[in-house]
Amino acid sequence: MIKVMMKLGLSITINQVLDQETAQLIVEEMGHRAILRRENELEELVMHHGDLNQISDSSVSSINKMVYKNRAPIVTIMGHVDHGKTSLLDCIRSTTITSSEVGGITQSIGAYCVNTANGGMITFLDTPGHEAFTRMRAQGVKLTDIVVLVVAADDGVMPQTIESINHIHNANVPVIVAINKIDKSKINIDRIKQELNNYNLIPEEWGGHTQFVNISAMLKIGINDLIDSILLQSEMLELKTVHYGMAKAVVIDSFLDKSRGPVASVLVREGELKCGNIILCGSEYGRVKAMRNSFGRLIESAGPSIPVELLGLSGTPVSGETLVVVSNEKKAKEVALYRKEKKREIKLSSNLEQSTLKNIFNNINSTSKVSELNFIVKSDTDGAAEVICESLKKLVVNGILMKIVSVSIGNITETDAVLASASKAIILAFNIKADIAARNIIESHHIDVRYYAVIYDLLNSVQQLICSKLTPKH
Ligand code: GDP
Repeated sequence: MIKVMMKLGLSITINQVLDQETAQLIVEEMGHRAILRRENELEELVMHHGDLNQISDSSVSSINKMVYKNRAPIVTIMGHVDHGKTSLLDCIRSTTITSSEVGGITQSIGAYCVNTANGGMITFLDTPGHEAFTRMRAQGVKLTDIVVLVVAADDGVMPQTIESINHIHNANVPVIVAINKIDKSKINIDRIKQELNNYNLIPEEWGGHTQFVNISAMLKIGINDLIDSILLQSEMLELKTVHYGMAKAVVIDSFLDKSRGPVASVLVREGELKCGNIILCGSEYGRVKAMRNSFGRLIESAGPSIPVELLGLSGTPVSGETLVVVSNEKKAKEVALYRKEKKREIKLSSNLEQSTLKNIFNNINSTSKVSELNFIVKSDTDGAAEVICESLKKLVVNGILMKIVSVSIGNITETDAVLASASKAIILAFNIKADIAARNIIESHHIDVRYYAVIYDLLNSVQQLICSKLTPKH
């Protein structure tokens, strides 16, 4: 650790105490993810129990109960195109609006939360479909607690319904099926239930565990039943978090507004986000200048599961990025600048690699019609691997035969390295490293391994690779 710190220009002795942000920076520099303990968690323990060493397990659990409180579930709506996802989101929003919210400018900030008739709160991510869902998962963020799968009664299970089910099963998120458009004539709801049976979505009345609700988003039929089902599912999940102290949030979306500067929509995960807070978000930092809720109203603070649009960041962070409140503005700036510099270095080195690769390809006889590009995809999560493979498939162009030789989770092993050598594949490593045995083979066999921390960078570099393959020899 001392070596790493020296590299970062921090001179430090072995028995010196580090502050949280420096510790976080070092942990991340060493390739790990830091899990921050909130200061007040410890303060709380000391306040109630005196000496930390004297605290028994039972008092820790009683403190946990005190600190962790229920939070609203976060719901994503998925389903085939035209099955009524947007109509359902609009319908829920308009039927649950309270008198104090009437007249607010309803602008989309990527999510909205509703107060239901019986007091429970629900937050809906309002980017329907699985793109936002997989984008979040690709960043290692599990934002969605419950998925509502919309299936149109007159259309039944369609390709995107199946795609959604695959994502849901992969992410292991509970699902509620909403059979929509029940106002239409000539529909057969039992047939749809039968079809969904094949995908392991079995209604409770047939002995399964999935809640099915019949709705019409157009005529506002069954919406309260659907809301009750969501609340019931949420109760079973026992969603709890800390409601006070320095907030942690996830970026849903961001953009640059000509007059207001960088605008970010974030969803608070824990703690309380307040105006004036110093914030750090990936390689951006700042101070919360103003916050608005999904009804366009200015607010001073937001607790867990509340989506807000905030002003005050130095730039636009990517969706899925974590935003944390920190106590020291100077440190926030330092960490953000350091991360920015690191990103730039990674980009530069990949550009450099690209140009060398381009030379190699230019040397290849450009008259040969079809080039081959083989990849081995290694990643830290299933979700990321899935998004990478799906996106790679979309990059297919004429004249290049692109093949994903293997996809797996975890560090690069000896087997991967041998396979890469045998299949002349490039290893695309996302958020993982190579183990020692693999490293030896990689070096001795000159295997091309590329490491990435951002999917966008990975795809960008593959795209450049494809372009270089297509570039005719000068
Ligand atoms: P999305 O692509 O899944 O977001 O679907 P939309 O919400 O855009 O709906 C597609 C079409 O279905 C629109 O023309 C809606 O008016 C219509 N639609 C949505 N819900 C219902 C419903 O409950 N009944 C009927 N009859 N039509 C609906």
